[in-house]
Amino acid sequence: MAKIHNLGFPRIGPDRELKRHLESYWRGEITDNELAGRSESLWLQNLQRQACLDVVQVGDFSLYDHVLDTSFLFGVVPERIQRATEDPLQQYFLNARGSSADAVCCAANAGEMTKWFNTNYHYIVPELAAGQTFRLNAQSLLHQITLTRQAGFDAKPVLLGPLTYLSLAKCEDGLNALTHVDNLLRVYKELLSLLAQKGVEWVQIDEPILCTDLSAEWKMAFRYAYEVLSQAPGKLLLTTYFGKLQDNLALITTLPVAGIHIDAIAHRQELPAIVESLADEQVLSLGVIDGRNVWRAPLAQTANWLRPFHDKLQHRLWLAPTCSLLHVPLSVKAETTLPDAITSRLAFAEEKIDELAGLRTLLQRDNPEQVASEQEGEVSPPLLIEDAGAPVLFREAPYASRRTAQAKALNLPSWTTTTIGSFPQTPAIRHARAQWRKGQLSHAEYLQFIKDQIADCIKTQEQLGLDVLVHGEAERNDMVEFFGELLDGVAILKNGWVQSYGSRCVKPPVIYGDVKRVAPMTVALTTYAQSLTSKPVKGMLTGPVTILNWSFVRDDISQAQVAQQLAFAIREEVLALEDAGIRIIQVDEAALREGMPLRQAEADDYLNWAVNAFRLATSGVRNETQIHTHMCYSDFNNIIGAIMNMDADVLTIEAARSGLKVLSALKDHGYQNSIGPGIYDIHSPAIPDESVLAKRLHTFASFLEQQQLWVNPDCGLKTRSWQEASRALGAMVNAANNVRKLAATG
Ligand code: GLN
Ligand code: ZN
Repeated sequence: MAKIHNLGFPRIGPDRELKRHLESYWRGEITDNELAGRSESLWLQNLQRQACLDVVQVGDFSLYDHVLDTSFLFGVVPERIQRATEDPLQQYFLNARGSSADAVCCAANAGEMTKWFNTNYHYIVPELAAGQTFRLNAQSLLHQITLTRQAGFDAKPVLLGPLTYLSLAKCEDGLNALTHVDNLLRVYKELLSLLAQKGVEWVQIDEPILCTDLSAEWKMAFRYAYEVLSQAPGKLLLTTYFGKLQDNLALITTLPVAGIHIDAIAHRQELPAIVESLADEQVLSLGVIDGRNVWRAPLAQTANWLRPFHDKLQHRLWLAPTCSLLHVPLSVKAETTLPDAITSRLAFAEEKIDELAGLRTLLQRDNPEQVASEQEGEVSPPLLIEDAGAPVLFREAPYASRRTAQAKALNLPSWTTTTIGSFPQTPAIRHARAQWRKGQLSHAEYLQFIKDQIADCIKTQEQLGLDVLVHGEAERNDMVEFFGELLDGVAILKNGWVQSYGSRCVKPPVIYGDVKRVAPMTVALTTYAQSLTSKPVKGMLTGPVTILNWSFVRDDISQAQVAQQLAFAIREEVLALEDAGIRIIQVDEAALREGMPLRQAEADDYLNWAVNAFRLATSGVRNETQIHTHMCYSDFNNIIGAIMNMDADVLTIEAARSGLKVLSALKDHGYQNSIGPGIYDIHSPAIPDESVLAKRLHTFASFLEQQQLWVNPDCGLKTRSWQEASRALGAMVNAANNVRKLAATG
């Protein structure tokens, strides 16, 4: 009989309890022991939510991040962190967050944080020192195994695999991380022995890099590492996820491991061959419930598909979600405000676990015909895709002519100063919004409040002397959720939180049907802002690709089709803003890069439809209307061509932290359009120095033509205070003025 298991479960709790416990701890309101006790009970509740499984995973829970946990498990703690404090828990949070205002101790910079494969989860990058030594710290994992058993469950520890761990790490000496492989394998072996002594039978060892392009060197390292680990006691379930193995499939079927886990949905075609290639006693775990989407699985259909493999493999067949359920919300039960027609199609972590149990039951039935007949009716109703018309992807004229038309229409000074869109989201704004949502503030009162904020924001920008103003986004809780609430075919969940990093959670909208714009979304407030000033106010929209990448997306049509629907909707809004007299419109594509597929071969296709979606959204305006876009990063490796193809009139990017690489790349590629390289880092509360900023402007000008350059911060200001924002922008405007003066006299 097939075994059911899980790869990982959401940590945050039904009501984001983990976030609250962590924040209380960081504020010093609860002790180490209280934090440990509260998080332990949260984790024990998670076990109960998975009680129907044959074995539960241990080690997937984390106080902050499982990659950081792995570093601490193996004693990889950067020296600056060790110097700052001896206390392990303080070291852990210091490595995660650096010293912040509410930190309980000591100072040190946090580790770098970056995206976990193609998800919106972020991990702390391991730092390997030259001559790094590894030291096992397994007490906490062993303790969790004991507790799991006391709670009556069979425990399967989860470890991040040595090669994925090394591939994520950065090496202080700039050497290849593989130089550490022998030393690292030694502690893995030590750990496997300890686990075996504790009576653990199976260990889940995660190697998601097997679903990425691997060089011959890394493939060889896999053969080597798993040969070494096979000398340790215990059974390894080599676990892969986030896509197809492609040429790594041949590799993993020859590794000496007791079992393998693959994403069976991605490998549907290859499954018969994979089953054939198994060694005699080898276990095959199939990811059959999609861990990345929020849709119910067609269980009878899945059972019928699996039946021949089940008959053949029997107890050697395990069933699981395709990947950890970390990337979906906890439970649909909390969604009490959505129509049944939507909730009845949803499955989050708890429901996905139930689906596994349902699948096991179906496979046990001796009457396959009956299961086959149940298949009907479980398929969700076909969704209508209305033809929105042929996409238009080109502006009226090429950039050179548009530049002239815009210069005439807008008459902006050289070194034009602007911002990225948002101004501080103050406690007062959040409070007013909460009151309005609860009905304690009428719609009219809330609207007036927002208008007052906008008026203040315009006034401040005029006083600062900025050239292109924004309305400040006071009405937006989140750049995607705001549009999700207003678009047809998109649902906003009440409690659908997913961990982004540490205590931070996001609530992605759910795109469940055809996306349509039903009414103007930003026109009223943008034109209100414009009515208050003679300077141009820049309209502010979120781009189609960013809305898509930060949402859960329907899976009955392609992502490219969904992006196109979103693009048509945003295009209508762009045109409505233009009609209403807005002369500059920014369409943010903050998440364009993070939607890149893990495989290079698929990246071109993605970039092609993503860029087309942006062009569709923005190409309808007159030559005189200036289109801006913003991206919050400067790592444009592999996407420079795509960026140029977007053909935005002005591109604002992050450049304050990561240097000038992107500018020289743009120069090399002959970029002609305008660009605002972020001149200071808004993530830091520090006020930038005027003369440093002026110097930076000169440096920018050594890469690109001066007429191409805009002056702006590197991202929105919503996380800053008004005082910080005004002082920093003041320095920025002064720097621009000084550079202009110098140009006039020199
Ligand atoms: N316009 C948005 C803002 O300023 C852009 C945010 C982002 O790039 N993430 O907040
Ligand atoms: Zn940004």
